[in-house]
Amino acid sequence: MKRLQGIAASNGIAIAKAYRLEHPDLTVEKQTIENPAEQVSRLQQALAKAKEELKVIQAHALKELGEDKAAIFSAHLLVLSDPELVQAVEQKIEQERVNAEFALHDVASMFIAMFEAMDNEYMKERAADIRDVTKRVLAHLLGVTISNPSMITEEVVIIAEDLTPSDTAQLNRKYVKGFTTDIGGRTSHSAIMARSMEIPAVVGTKEATATIQNGDIVIIDGLDGEVIVNPTEEIIAQYEQKRAAFAAQKAEWAKLVHEQTMTKDGHHVELAANIGTPNDVEGVLANGAEGIGLYRTEFLYMGRNELPTEEEQFEAYKTVLEKMEGKPVVVRTLDIGGDKELPYLDLPKEMNPFLGFRAIRLCLDMQQMFRTQLRALLRASVYGNLKVMFPMIATLDEFRQAKAILLEEKEKLVAEGVPVSDEIEVGMMVEIPAAAVLADQFAKEVDFFSIGTNDLIQYTMASDRMNERVSYLYQPYNPAILRLIYNVIEAAHKEGKWVGMCGEMAGEQLAVPILLAFGLDEFSMSATSILRVRSQLKKLSKQEAEQVKNHILSLATAEEVVRFVKETFHL
Ligand code: PEP
Ligand code: MG
Repeated sequence: MKRLQGIAASNGIAIAKAYRLEHPDLTVEKQTIENPAEQVSRLQQALAKAKEELKVIQAHALKELGEDKAAIFSAHLLVLSDPELVQAVEQKIEQERVNAEFALHDVASMFIAMFEAMDNEYMKERAADIRDVTKRVLAHLLGVTISNPSMITEEVVIIAEDLTPSDTAQLNRKYVKGFTTDIGGRTSHSAIMARSMEIPAVVGTKEATATIQNGDIVIIDGLDGEVIVNPTEEIIAQYEQKRAAFAAQKAEWAKLVHEQTMTKDGHHVELAANIGTPNDVEGVLANGAEGIGLYRTEFLYMGRNELPTEEEQFEAYKTVLEKMEGKPVVVRTLDIGGDKELPYLDLPKEMNPFLGFRAIRLCLDMQQMFRTQLRALLRASVYGNLKVMFPMIATLDEFRQAKAILLEEKEKLVAEGVPVSDEIEVGMMVEIPAAAVLADQFAKEVDFFSIGTNDLIQYTMASDRMNERVSYLYQPYNPAILRLIYNVIEAAHKEGKWVGMCGEMAGEQLAVPILLAFGLDEFSMSATSILRVRSQLKKLSKQEAEQVKNHILSLATAEEVVRFVKETFHL
């Protein structure tokens, strides 16, 4: 038995067999070879194995995930049977006397570059297919395993060095009971997704992949951030009890599902949920959220090989708005970048992706893509209470440009006779310190703010939200962060605007009394946190919280804040 300590990323306890999700190293080296026939035969064998594997995955995907997902694998099979590609690789082996891996990699790269340069969406998709298939064949040539998580058919916990958001999106909740990773922080997107999927998770254990083998029995304790490998019967029984106690606690919170969110002294705040896909709305309603405070639309663009069309997006937004039946829905425009990649856009690798060409910066540059999303949103606006929010705003000019494009698209639609709501509020995320400091200026032009503490903390503390080695600096309770938050709320209120928070901090037990004291209007969090926070707010008095506001703002360190808040609010 071995215990690993990590960061508690998603509540709950999971006990199941380990499944290692691997992304092996597929770098190839050029070798000059004596016997081309042997290399061609190696290539043929690898192609055959990849085909067999894809057929099995395709059949499974069809059964478990539906035609849509299975179609990707059919496209991959087509690539493998394409004589042009295969013959080009064989020729390269024969003429240049190079190893099969190198020839395949080289020819595939050439095809990918060629398809990507075409001004045709269909052809661009083929580039992504070739990239995926090449990886599969290369893995066979190199004798390494690539995992196929969509093939899991028994209850498991996933063990991975890291999980990308698109890996996480592909996890089947029926079988995946929990996960643990070597790296990552509480606000990395796989952790956030785990919370909304209610999958217990522990991230940043540093040594999970070095310690845990396929088939080991693993306990993931997402409540205390512990991972236990091959526990004794006694320990398993202990954790089963802990799991039952947590379930009982959840049942207690569940009684509040139809209640208004009200403090002890009768003050109402709005409790909203963060979602990634229209499917998440079910959980939002089941947990009694009063709205959606953040719809991360980038997930609509991920786990696929091409941009979603206006029609697809329209359907997604309409579904969410309709299901929410007039409750507020804040839709954030595409926030790609950082840990959320879109491989098919083929953007150059950056040294500092979190500080790079991303989110609104990318949208203002790739305007066609941005306008498509805005049109879909505007068309959907008549089906509910839509609010549009722009991510990563650093300057007023960016906000003005984004809003102007939105208004332009609205005018075009209206001219075409398409109905568009006149009530759409337009707001922005405050997640860049420059915007938080200058909130008084922004407040004059926006309809609302939503504070994105996940990024605001990392930028203010210069501490990568994904990096467990600097997680000690990722301090939500650092007075610098609290003063920024307070500044934003005050600035908005002076202009009569409302302020929400959609960063993970909004759902933290210690943060709730502080944010209540600061006057936050809307708290938006993983749907699964809502009832816990409603229960906490019921026991708090806004007036009492306000009395300690100035004291909290006068403290010098995060430790002092934490100690004071724990003592004052009995946490
Ligand atoms: C944030 O930065 O706080 C936020 C809510 O956005 P994301 O986590 O998607 O970056
Ligand atoms: Mg952010």
